[in-house]
Amino acid sequence: MPARKPQKLLLEILAKLGEVRVKERFIPGDAAGEIVYGQYLSDGIVEINPVPAVVDTVIHECLHALRPEWGETTVKRFTSRVFHRLTEEEMRVIYGIYLRRAKKVRAPSANGS
Ligand SMILES: [Zn+2]
Repeated sequence: MPARKPQKLLLEILAKLGEVRVKERFIPGDAAGEIVYGQYLSDGIVEINPVPAVVDTVIHECLHALRPEWGETTVKRFTSRVFHRLTEEEMRVIYGIYLRRAKKVRAPSANGS
């Protein structure tokens, strides 16, 4: 495998991740109704909203389980269709079910062991 060019910007991002304070919480949609995945607050705090990404993935994978005959393109299309019609309350409920149902496995260590 050819050596990959180091990503200078990625190194800067990782250094910054070590500096900022990170908070995980549900962030309501903005005034335009857009989903907010995270935000940088000027006082050195990064807020991450894991809910939309998790809920999108839950819908996607459950569609694979429900409709095994569907290909990836169809699953993606219907995932998007269902996801974008969710209310904030439905998103919270699905995330709550996910949290109760998910069996957490240990995160992989940086050296892959
Ligand atoms: Zn898929």
